[in-house]
Parts: sequence; structure tokens; C-alpha cells
Amino acid sequence: MLRVNRELTYLEEVRGLFNDSLSCCVNALLQSFSATTELLDILNKWNPSDRIERSNIPLHLKNTLLAMRDVSHPDPHVDFLDSLYRHTIRRYTQQDADEIFHIILNLIQKQMPDRCLAQEIRSLYEIKVETQVKCSHCASVQRMPTSLFSLPLAICEGGNTLESCINSFFQLQNLVDGEEWFCDQCEKKQPSTHELKLVSLPPILCVHLKRFRNDRGFTRKLNSKVTFLETFSTDVFAAGQSENVANDSPRAGEHYSLYAVIVHIGSAMSGHYTAYIRPFQDQAWYYADDNHVQPVTWSDVQQYTYKGSSTAYLLLYRKKSWNSSG
Ligand SMILES: [Zn+2]
Repeated sequence: MLRVNRELTYLEEVRGLFNDSLSCCVNALLQSFSATTELLDILNKWNPSDRIERSNIPLHLKNTLLAMRDVSHPDPHVDFLDSLYRHTIRRYTQQDADEIFHIILNLIQKQMPDRCLAQEIRSLYEIKVETQVKCSHCASVQRMPTSLFSLPLAICEGGNTLESCINSFFQLQNLVDGEEWFCDQCEKKQPSTHELKLVSLPPILCVHLKRFRNDRGFTRKLNSKVTFLETFSTDVFAAGQSENVANDSPRAGEHYSLYAVIVHIGSAMSGHYTAYIRPFQDQAWYYADDNHVQPVTWSDVQQYTYKGSSTAYLLLYRKKSWNSSG
């Protein structure tokens, strides 16, 4: 049981959002966007013109995040949901929070007329990695830059730690037995090694725990436990760093602090999303389940994010040096 059992539709720090056409996934994401005060700070620098089209996502996101802070506003997210439904997202459908997170950020990139502000939002979330494929025959290396809005971490059956998942992400893989890579030097497919190297980490780091797995045409969910800390040091990325990558990679000893957890409850076919969030100026945690909001403790967050089918799915961390008050 959660120790605090008060159910409220509104708390001063966190605004509950009613479930409209199975919008729990978007609601949970909006709670995390609302707790990302840096995002609203950027959107607030933008003065949209009157000619902005009705389905403009950055405009509706800005209005929604402002309305979530306005006690008198009856339904802060209705216009945002309507504009999302005018894009590729369907009503009354089970959504994938990582996919919707990407759709929203990509629509901001596409639709934000102020390109400088679009770039600021990209930089807020963008993780840069480099794929390195080395030919085992001639030792030549092909390097491919990749940019990600969330760090996709595979998880194992049984127990995992965030650190073990990060280590696996950067682990060297052998491309053999039908997976050989085409080597430009040898001009044919050769056994190779594949490795990801970290180039840079953003101020806001979204970690995607890959719980949904395709198994012979069916999607199944892994309810495996993943333990994670409220604060971690960038030393956990040491395995993914390379001296060969020209980078502004994280300095040793920098810290990230957890401020939002998107939770998936249920199975791959039928589920529900909720969010634990810690608003920026406040050290307290809250649990938001659509329109119900209640204060919780850090121990509740840990306990309820790997209980049965109630599992942490997205973790949002903030770089501590990014803003000293965080
Ligand atoms: Zn080669």
C-alpha cells in the first residue's frame, strides 16, 4: 500500500489530467514534460504568429504546459490531444510511451517555425553516439554518427540494474554467421565487430527500458525487475567511451538526478500508463494516475516500479550541473 492514500485531482505542484479516449500514455508523458521546466522555458521564448495551423504540436504543448499550472483551467490538455489525434496517433488505442515521446519531439522539430528554439529543444534531449564497425579481416573501421532522443536499453529475464543495462548497450558484438558486414576496403561481406561509443549526453536523459519484445509475430512484455538509483554518476558510461571519438563526452563524476518515471501497468496487449514525478523546484515525489494525484515517497517509487506488471518503462534524469538548483 502507498503510505499516503489521499486522492486529489489537483495539488499545487502537480495537475491531474482526465483520461480522454484512453489518453493515459499521453497524460503520463505530459506529466514528465511538465516536470521538465527547461522545456517550457524554451517554449516561452517563442511568440507564435496568428497564422500557426490548428494541428501545431509545439503551440499546443506550450499552451497545455501553461494551462497545467493554471488552477482555473478546466481541461488543460484537450487541444493538445485533439492536435495529436489529427496526426498519426489514434484514439482508443494502446500506445507505446517511447514511440509517442519520439512522435511529439519529432513533430516539434518539424513544426516549430523558430529554428533556433527547435534546435534548443533538440539539444535538451539529444544523445549522440557513434556506431563503429570493424572488419575482422583488414581492421578498417566504419564510423556512423547516430542521434537518439532516448537511450534504448535491452533488459534480461530476471534481475537487472540500470548499470548492467547500460554496460550491455555498449558491449562489443561479433557480426558472424550470416550477420557479416560489407567492408568497403575488402569490397565484400566480412566477419566484423559492432560497437556503440558515446559521443555526448544531453541535459535531460531519457532512458527507455525495452520491455516489449517481438516473439514470433507476437509482442510480449518483460516484467523483469530493473533497479535504478535516484542519482547516478556518469562513470557508469565509462564502458561506452572511447578516446578515438572526437567528443564532448561526459566528464567523470558528473551526476544525473531522476525526476520522472513513466510506468506501464499490464500486458503488451492491454495496459495503462501512470507517472511518478518530482517537480523541479520541489524535492517531493508525486504519483499521477490520470486525474488522480498523490504525494509519495522515494521508497514508494522504487517499490511500485517493479511490482507484478507495474513496471518502470521510461526514466527521465536531469544533469545536475545543468542547473544547480536541480
Ligand atoms: Zn575489410
